[in-house]
Amino acid sequence: ETVFNKLSVLEVMQRSLKMVQSICPDNIKVVTKISDEEVYVLGNRTQISQVLLNITLNAVQAMGAEPGTICIHCDKIKWIESDELPSSELEFEKEYVKIEIEDTGPGMSEDIIKQIFTPFFTTKKGGAGTGLGLALVDQIIRSHKGSVVVNSEIGCGSTFTIYLPVVSEMY
Ligand code: ADP
Ligand code: MG
Repeated sequence: ETVFNKLSVLEVMQRSLKMVQSICPDNIKVVTKISDEEVYVLGNRTQISQVLLNITLNAVQAMGAEPGTICIHCDKIKWIESDELPSSELEFEKEYVKIEIEDTGPGMSEDIIKQIFTPFFTTKKGGAGTGLGLALVDQIIRSHKGSVVVNSEIGCGSTFTIYLPVVSEMY
């Protein structure tokens, strides 16, 4: 059974970023911009760290030995009726934590993007990938009533954006 707690996003991000740094080889620079505003989510610390690690590990693997950058940004966001929601699972007038993980890797085609959240889908050869990393990411984020969105362009890189509902400090 998964335990959900009120978590400080700042604290979870700081712990996760240490893990991210430790798996990044020297050819990859990690740039972070985390809002220092105290924001809370209702969630499982281990699972959220797992999500960040899976996405970062894919970015590292996609960039290979090439020099590259992973940018991790974290902020609070709210949409109003005149905005366009990034995903139909998200709601207007509600506050979300937005975590963006952007890489300068090879990017993905539309055809690949459509399949990346499907269990066992991998483009990694010779058993290098299980194809379960992003399926798990999607499942975890859904169980947290959030959403994960991907933007990618061949030759430009990929951005994974996670949205998690904010809970009040009083919760
Ligand atoms: P695995 O890493 O085991 O292949 P994942 O579910 O983690 O499985 O990822 C599925 C596929 O999505 C990868 O095989 C790869 O083709 C693609 N992918 C994921 N992240 C990236 C990325 N940052 N850049 C390019 N391709 C990616
Ligand atoms: Mg993976």
